[in-house]
Amino acid sequence: NFTMAILAFVAVLIISCPCALGIATPAALMVGVGKGAEAGILIRGGEYLERAQKLQKVVFDKTGTLTKGEPQVIDIIAAGKHSKGDVLGIAAAVESGSEHPLAEAVIKEAKIKKISIKKISSFESVSGKGIKAKLGNKTAAVGNRKMMDSQNLKIEKEIEYKLKSLEEEGKTVVIVSLGSEIIGLIAIADAIKEYSAEAVRELSALGIDSIMLTGDNEHTAMAIAAQAGIKNVIANVMPHEKLDAIKKLQAEGKVVAMVGDGVNDAPALAQADIGIAIGSGTDVAKETGGIVLIKDDLRDVVTAIKISKTTMKKIRQNLFWAFAYNTLAIPLAAFGYLNPIIAAAAMALSSLTVVVNSALLKT
Ligand code: ADP
Ligand code: MG
Repeated sequence: NFTMAILAFVAVLIISCPCALGIATPAALMVGVGKGAEAGILIRGGEYLERAQKLQKVVFDKTGTLTKGEPQVIDIIAAGKHSKGDVLGIAAAVESGSEHPLAEAVIKEAKIKKISIKKISSFESVSGKGIKAKLGNKTAAVGNRKMMDSQNLKIEKEIEYKLKSLEEEGKTVVIVSLGSEIIGLIAIADAIKEYSAEAVRELSALGIDSIMLTGDNEHTAMAIAAQAGIKNVIANVMPHEKLDAIKKLQAEGKVVAMVGDGVNDAPALAQADIGIAIGSGTDVAKETGGIVLIKDDLRDVVTAIKISKTTMKKIRQNLFWAFAYNTLAIPLAAFGYLNPIIAAAAMALSSLTVVVNSALLKT
């Protein structure tokens, strides 16, 4: 009869409301993002949490990411008739125009040794290579082999030998030139962070490959990679090539995360499926990253992946519960077997189940 038809009609309308379905995903994501924040992992949006569980490759920058980024001058080698003090003094003068961590180390050492830092007249920083400046009427440069190359300076065999052996110990060596002459080397060491190796190990236990991507030379890179337990090293890359390295991995069909701290890492952070910035890094890196690790602890990369996996599991459970009530109850309601009042209770219960199930993620 008409009354029965109306009741069935109302019951169907109530029970088919997809409200639980609507909150199934955002509720779980919100709790997941909150859980991350509690652990010092800032997640900039649900999409990063959804992607993290699919990661196959994690690419790490070296300086400031795997290492502490607080380099210290360990050794100075003077060439020709120059003294160690000369080498340090000239290098410090040129580096006073740079904000690179290596520059800080050189200037700090000059201050410790109480060497007066000369005034420079103009400086030009060459990204991925080094820095040069005018010292009186001569050009002085500090940087890597590429920097010396661009100054048309040849590195003598004897100096090259010392350079390589220092690099193989994991030290970054900057070459100092004045005019047309290479006057010395400064060996700078940057210790690896306490938990870098553990993070790499935990990632590999999850079946995720770690790769090192650095602008530093391959000898130093290999030595630091060995300490971190990373086998895959891409060294000697210019800042714009970091982006290409990520693109290449993505072209192989891999889901890639980039972990970095520097201005030079920003394009790669933006290109990666997930850019993970180090909290103590530069503002540009933090602005670009989808995830920011506040504590500078690389093990949080693993934690983020674990939070992602658990959150996605919750979303699937939520979707099941959201659908279960509707699919079971719609046929009942259509044939008049479901009282509209019970239908309303079931709908409330379905939303409640989803919210409570999401909240359980907190535990
Ligand atoms: P990373 O990828 O390890 O963060 P960068 O791209 O910043 O390294 O630098 C790459 C290399 O360029 C350094 O290892 C260093 O040899 C040289 N370099 C860059 N800037 C400077 C500088 N201000 N002084 C000396 N060397 C520099
Ligand atoms: Mg860096």
